[in-house]
Amino acid sequence: MYANVIIEYGVKSLNKTFIYKVPDELKDKIKVGMKVYVPFGKSEVFGFVMELQNNNDTGYDAKEIIRIDNEELVLNKELMDVGKHLSSITLCTLITAYQTMLPSSLKIKKQEHNYDKYDEYLTLTDKLKAMEYICKYPRRIAQIKAINNILEVGKLNKKEVSSEVVKALEENGIIVIEKVNKYRINKDSGKIVKKHLTEDQESVYKSVDFNKHDTYLLYGVTGSGKTEVYIKWIEKCIDEGKTAIMLVPEIGLTTQIAKRFYEAFGSDVAIFHSSLSEGEKYDEYLKILRGEVHVVVGTRSAVFVPLKNLGIIIIDEEDSSSYKQDNNPRYHAKDIAIYRGKYNNIPVVLGSATPTLESKARADKGVYKLLRLTNRVGNAKLPIIHVIDMEPEMKKRNMIFSEFLQNKIKEKLERREQIILLLNRRGFSTFITCSNCGYTYKCPSCDITLTFHKSTNNLICHYCGYQKKKDEVCPECHEESLNYYGLGTEKLEERIKEMYPSARVVRMDQDTTRNKGMHERIINDFKDYKYDILLGTQMISKGLDFPKVTLVGVINADASLNIPDYRSSEVTYSLLSQVAGRAGRSEIPGEVIIQTFNPDNYVIECVKNNNYDRFYLQEMQFRKNLKYPPYYYLVSIKVIGKIYEKAIENSQKVKKYLADNLNKETIVLGPTTASVFKFNNEYRMQIIIKYKFDDKLMETLKDLDNIFSSNKDNYLEIDFNPLRI
Ligand code: ADP
Ligand code: ZN
Repeated sequence: MYANVIIEYGVKSLNKTFIYKVPDELKDKIKVGMKVYVPFGKSEVFGFVMELQNNNDTGYDAKEIIRIDNEELVLNKELMDVGKHLSSITLCTLITAYQTMLPSSLKIKKQEHNYDKYDEYLTLTDKLKAMEYICKYPRRIAQIKAINNILEVGKLNKKEVSSEVVKALEENGIIVIEKVNKYRINKDSGKIVKKHLTEDQESVYKSVDFNKHDTYLLYGVTGSGKTEVYIKWIEKCIDEGKTAIMLVPEIGLTTQIAKRFYEAFGSDVAIFHSSLSEGEKYDEYLKILRGEVHVVVGTRSAVFVPLKNLGIIIIDEEDSSSYKQDNNPRYHAKDIAIYRGKYNNIPVVLGSATPTLESKARADKGVYKLLRLTNRVGNAKLPIIHVIDMEPEMKKRNMIFSEFLQNKIKEKLERREQIILLLNRRGFSTFITCSNCGYTYKCPSCDITLTFHKSTNNLICHYCGYQKKKDEVCPECHEESLNYYGLGTEKLEERIKEMYPSARVVRMDQDTTRNKGMHERIINDFKDYKYDILLGTQMISKGLDFPKVTLVGVINADASLNIPDYRSSEVTYSLLSQVAGRAGRSEIPGEVIIQTFNPDNYVIECVKNNNYDRFYLQEMQFRKNLKYPPYYYLVSIKVIGKIYEKAIENSQKVKKYLADNLNKETIVLGPTTASVFKFNNEYRMQIIIKYKFDDKLMETLKDLDNIFSSNKDNYLEIDFNPLRI
């Protein structure tokens, strides 16, 4: 028997299978999709079995497989195909695709860890035999005590019994030791909560056909009870013995949503998100492989979980950019979900209060089926939104808070209601400049201004993480004239504490949630009313459900509006509507205050009037005129390398190659400098392809990618459907 194996090196030149002989002792065990250890050249490497066959007709002398790495880990047929699909749509190597699909503890890497944590339990081999033993040796007190304990509860943790006793009982054949995998996440919710769907929810619930594949867009305003409908769909799947994948965006949200799923399904849920430890992820993955759970709740990569007998895949907040991986392979979870949906002939549901233009357009064309929830559940009303023009406020020296916002904060604090403040920029000030000579701190590797973080007195590059201590005097002219400009969450926190000394304030951003469990702690504490004000970056904008929040303030709505990118309006609309949606989710009505220098901007106006449909029509018009998605597809190609001149030269070659080989109707723009031109000491040139239909595209890009895989100066970064250009 022979096996075709792909090996661990993710380089293009080794992106093919190698043939190995299966030794006799592995013949009964080996399966397609297993991880194996094989000799390769002079070394030994890991690989995945792609195919098994009886003969070796390659003409090569096949070496023997050394061992199977983990007999439990087998990528089934579906996942083998998902990997091939992933590789074909992103142009990554097959091994990279399979590696992406596994939690990192199961990925191939040089250092192996043993994550297999289990508890050992003692059970009796035979009750009668144990009784006889007690009668025969009445003086073996410790052993008798252990036997009695086991008799009482059925099994006993090995740790509770001395090792001599265990040894003696085992040797006499009285007990056996059972290894039970120990799961580190505790999901006992204690209560199973079931809600009755409202009429609207019920009709949406019934519109999904479980007997065939369709992609549905559930467009429901914030607080309309989408999550409750998700739960009912999943319940239906479980009742029929099927399984479900529920994708959620970033961690801040995962914990809160996961909690609602534990409440509904108890330990039938496995969870995946980036704040779990490797060991925890490993545990969760094994539970899925063993078929011990029916539901998986997780972030992007959970779309790859090996659940069998899938019944539905749901993507909550489908417009979240966290569903697109921003390093190789640059895949979107939606594409994988729809692939698996077709594969299993099951429904895929995309849910959002602010769908992407792509999804809405597809729903309008009938490619997706549109489901709508237009009202909030119960008596909750959508919040009243005030837009405050900051220009006159500046003249009154209200640099951070408008008078209106100041008064509202005071009012809500007095009424003991809660407040959320959004400022989409972390750190203390955005940059430091010398007022004498004009010197500004910049990152030496990225050419981006450094952000000042006061708590650590560090200047940090938000792109590459470079840090340096702040100086007392200007490093250029040596005057004491360094000034802070711009506002970050850290400074906002300091100002609020000065202005409202009795308010209990908590900040949530990348800096305060670096440690494991911090997200959860902040969210839970805020929910338990240990704080009055929660302030933070966009991390706080989505999905959170705090009934006591009646005021949401957006400190600077222009920050994301002014980013030069084709999606900045869409991103801003979504961010503002989502954060506004945190207010007034129960009986007490909510208010939202948006501070801006562009009160007449149509994005802000549409948010104010809660008019997604108008925003959608207006924005579609822009996209059409400027030939952007959803009217055109985009591909971004970056030509990256250490030498400036080479990057320019090669990007021109790429441009020519594309122009020569793609369809005539396809538009090739550039090369231009990428929006982050210098990053980690590498220069980045960018070319944008815009097309509606191009049958030569994939082949051309594949060839181009191969040509560059051996280029010593530059490498390519190809991004299909980039979220940012
Ligand atoms: P969305 O996901 O659309 O933002 P949620 O599912 O979070 O909305 O629902 C908003 C609030 O309404 C939650 O507090 C939820 O518990 C409650 N809710 C949802 N559906 C029902 C229902 N059928 N009956 C009672 N309360 C509900
Ligand atoms: Zn940097």
